[in-house]
Amino acid sequence: MFDLLIKNGYIIDGSGQSRYKSDIGIKGEKIVFIGDSDDKNSKRIIDASGLIVSPGFIDAHTHHDGVLLNNPQHASSLRQGVTTEILGQDGLSYAPLSPDNYEIQRKYLGGILGNAPKNLDMSSVKAFRSHYHKKVSINTAYPVSHGALRMESVGFFDKPLEGKQLDHAKNLLNEGLSEGSVGLATGMSYHPNAWSNTEELIELCKVVRENNGVYITHLRDVNPERGFGGGGVPEALEIGRKSGVRVHFSHTRTSADNAGKVSEVLELIDEAKNEGVNCTLELYPYPTGSSFLLSNLPSWAHEGGPKNILERLNDKNSRKKIIESFKLNKKRRMDEVLLSYLPKNPELEGMTVSQLSKLRGISMGDLICDLLIEQDLQVGFWLIPPQSISIWKQLSKDAMEFLSRPDYMIGSDSIPIGNFPHPRAYGTFPRFVGRLRRQFGLISLEQMIQRISNNPAKTFNLKGRGSLKKDFFADIVIFDENKIIDTATYDDAKQFPVGIPYVIVNGSIAVNNEECTGVFAGQAVP
Ligand SMILES: [Zn+2]
Repeated sequence: MFDLLIKNGYIIDGSGQSRYKSDIGIKGEKIVFIGDSDDKNSKRIIDASGLIVSPGFIDAHTHHDGVLLNNPQHASSLRQGVTTEILGQDGLSYAPLSPDNYEIQRKYLGGILGNAPKNLDMSSVKAFRSHYHKKVSINTAYPVSHGALRMESVGFFDKPLEGKQLDHAKNLLNEGLSEGSVGLATGMSYHPNAWSNTEELIELCKVVRENNGVYITHLRDVNPERGFGGGGVPEALEIGRKSGVRVHFSHTRTSADNAGKVSEVLELIDEAKNEGVNCTLELYPYPTGSSFLLSNLPSWAHEGGPKNILERLNDKNSRKKIIESFKLNKKRRMDEVLLSYLPKNPELEGMTVSQLSKLRGISMGDLICDLLIEQDLQVGFWLIPPQSISIWKQLSKDAMEFLSRPDYMIGSDSIPIGNFPHPRAYGTFPRFVGRLRRQFGLISLEQMIQRISNNPAKTFNLKGRGSLKKDFFADIVIFDENKIIDTATYDDAKQFPVGIPYVIVNGSIAVNNEECTGVFAGQAVP
């Protein structure tokens, strides 16, 4: 007798091998049987006739560290078939942090992680993990945050991390890895991470490699003179070469200015792989991204953290310099920014920066400074998708081409806060598995499932997950391969996908007939 028996489904086991028809028996948290079963006494039987039964999807890149604490049901991911997420992305997270530093970081990251609860113990990775373990609907894994290491060692300042302070950061990292962290994550467009140099990261990554962890990087575009080869891909690869660490590239894709140039984007990475640098990558299937507006301030304006930033925004001379810097930064175009999260004025969410600046009769630079002050720095945005459908279509095709490579996986980069979040928070997985697979082909369903289960499980050392095998954790999604599709759009993002009737997390039914059950069986993994 099983606790749960899934009958008559087509099993795609995560290995990339062809599907086969079989039943799966589950007891407690684990898969205990795969084969033909006539057992009628199981506590619950799901008839999966005509449906695909696959390992639960693993989201390699999410910004849910705060939202999960406020909303443990987390339907936006769960309903997509996601059963495990890697938090801590871009090095923007909460552990390990002292109580004072947690308060600083909580405020600083409000525009991307939402308004996380006050006074939580984030003093260690162990403490961090305890807030999610069996308290949320989904499994979570955590790479130590580069930003947190810097804050605990040199504070929120533009200071080199070297000598005793570097030793302190390395000790904290080592401790985090021994407490179940899967590696180290950084984002070099963000602070305090971008105050680092390549040497600092090589030193930290030696610790990651000794623990067989992974280095997860959003590439540097701030302070490029501090990065080997001007930052970007060359810096990430140099860190891999010099430390021997495995390098995981966040959201690596084409955009409107290089649509169709997939091999160009990957050229340096493929060369390095041939030399023996171990690289994996991820992406989301949308033409534009999303972030928090605070990150667009120039590097010097971040020093000291939220209190000092607000002082600068209110100071006439500093404000003038900040606005000047917007004009000089050609990479971050303010006229393409749509405001998705304004917690104190939700009625303005959905407007663009240029629209609201015209309405208020001020420049876009002044508007950005005003909004950051008014919202206590908590402003989220996304970039408007291209007007040309043919470019958009090319970017979708590129996304499929990236994912057809065996070193790729999916990272939604989801930020589900505000009334108008980027649709990737609700649609990433069914968009790939349903819409784009049916539209473009290029990869079989079996291969695609491998990319989003077995592949990330190996990359992030998630033992006993990412495959449908006996004795593995019963993280399972059951879906209709012809019906599965995203319904979230840029103008109406909070829409759940269809064609995914069941999601099982650690043996517990978390989604039943396309409805969340309110069971919080997610574990802090591995
Ligand atoms: Zn991200």
